Amino acid sequence: MTDDKKYNPVTPKIADQLKGIVGAKYVIFDDAEKLEPYSHDEISGREYAHMPEVVVRPENAAEVAAIMKLANREMIPVTPRGAGSGLSGGAVPIYGGIVLAIDRMNKIIELDRENMMIVVEPGVITSEINEYIKDCGLFYAGYPMSLETCYIGGNVAENAGGAKAIKYGVTSRYVLGLEVVTPTGEIVQLGGKLIKDVSGYNMIGLMVGSEGTLGFFTKITLKLLPSTKAEVDLLCLFKNSEEAMSIVSKIMTTVGIVPASIEFMNNCAVKGACDYLNETIPYKQAGAMLLITIDGAEEQQVERDYEAIGEFCLDNGAIEVYIADNTTTSERIWNIRRNMAEAFNAFSSRQGAEDIVVPPASVGTMVALMGEIAEKFDVMIPAYGHAADGNIHTRIISRPEWSDEKWRQILNGIQSELYQLTAELGGRISGEHGIGHKRKNSLPYVVSENYIDMLRTIKRAMDPNNILNPGKIFDL
Ligand SMILES: Cc1cc2nc3c(=O)[nH]c(=O)nc-3n(C[C@H](O)[C@H](O)[C@H](O)COP(=O)(O)OP(=O)(O)OC[C@H]3O[C@@H](n4cnc5c(N)ncnc54)[C@H](O)[C@@H]3O)c2cc1C
Repeated sequence: MTDDKKYNPVTPKIADQLKGIVGAKYVIFDDAEKLEPYSHDEISGREYAHMPEVVVRPENAAEVAAIMKLANREMIPVTPRGAGSGLSGGAVPIYGGIVLAIDRMNKIIELDRENMMIVVEPGVITSEINEYIKDCGLFYAGYPMSLETCYIGGNVAENAGGAKAIKYGVTSRYVLGLEVVTPTGEIVQLGGKLIKDVSGYNMIGLMVGSEGTLGFFTKITLKLLPSTKAEVDLLCLFKNSEEAMSIVSKIMTTVGIVPASIEFMNNCAVKGACDYLNETIPYKQAGAMLLITIDGAEEQQVERDYEAIGEFCLDNGAIEVYIADNTTTSERIWNIRRNMAEAFNAFSSRQGAEDIVVPPASVGTMVALMGEIAEKFDVMIPAYGHAADGNIHTRIISRPEWSDEKWRQILNGIQSELYQLTAELGGRISGEHGIGHKRKNSLPYVVSENYIDMLRTIKRAMDPNNILNPGKIFDL
């Protein structure tokens, strides 16, 4: 039996009960135009979309708990939704039912300077956290490239990574406490303002990255770090991807400096973004680029570090190293990197977006193999991503003359080769965007059936009716 067979529809009577919980104004029902924006996230293909039957916008944990209890009683699926910037279909209600949107739960509850922590609701936009604390000598180190649009709740659910993961880690490193509404509608506190806590299983570890399938987060306690005082970006141009990638780990192992980020972009990716933005940086002679950010507590130290890294790059094959030591130039370069996905979305609606991750030392091999795949299948594969942590984003772009059917066959062939190579290198099919429903059929390429069974056992124990975000990551 598939997951959807047992679910009941949302009737006008159920919609009235939901209105009774959150107020009529915060329920969207029987209005296709207003429901449509909740039917998809940022994946480009329409085949991943699915309409919800009702959208509910609660204000607090008690309302979320009441909705979960109602959904369990009536056997209606519930899909949590953040800002909808996801790239794996996690917030898409594939069996219809209720979409539980967190946009009204958007308060910063407490800044605790003495403990260097902040308590927030899940609907706070990620970049607003640093905006809020910028004059306090503190910062939150989570840095997904979508930080100006995504919500912190979505980051916790996806265990978002981003450009600064090599130095600062991913979201899980900063989540100290969670208030969670369970799939059956209980409110539970996990962790708190604690740096250490081994009082039972590591439930926060389980919740972070659970893609909205194990609990609904209603309050999040985050660890903050002392602000850095200086930051400089280097844009290093290389002849080709292999030369650029071969230097990445040496920056850390030979020069002995861990930059805040080392981003990789091949020529095809830079060209796409520059054309899209009408940008004129001198990329034509470079087959690939590294964008390296060095930060620190002291200006002189940062200067010494970026000079050492810049010289090392020039001694090891870089054609040119540009220094961006002011906000305007820095923002100009980062804007190119941040807009790569957008640029290719505008270029073609038929494309595959990949998020594979391999051990950092294998990233050069992976990029070279991608080049071979592009040649073999005669497609364009712009590659960019977080080079230092082994996470490469690729877009596989369809040729305009191919029919939909031919494109689907070719994409399947490419993905099959790509995932097998990823598995051989000890990698995974998603480093930060998640499995959702987009990648669930490909998960067995890289993990064992025993592992997926372990996930199923946890899901069944916590969500006996399979109400919360069913059909994501794996099928029961
Ligand atoms: C241009 C662009 C750049 C991106 N760059 C990065 C990047 O650098 N790093 C990265 O990691 N990701 C990146 N992403 C992907 C995306 O922004 C992240 O996955 C982000 O964490 C999703 O947050 P959201 O609020 O949009 O969540 P949504 O897309 O709305 O939902 C994502 C998942 O979270 C669940 N969820 C949301 N809120 C809750 C809650 N309160 N409780 C439980 N579950 C919840 C949903 O059910 C869903 O499974 C990028 C996306 C775009 C479009």
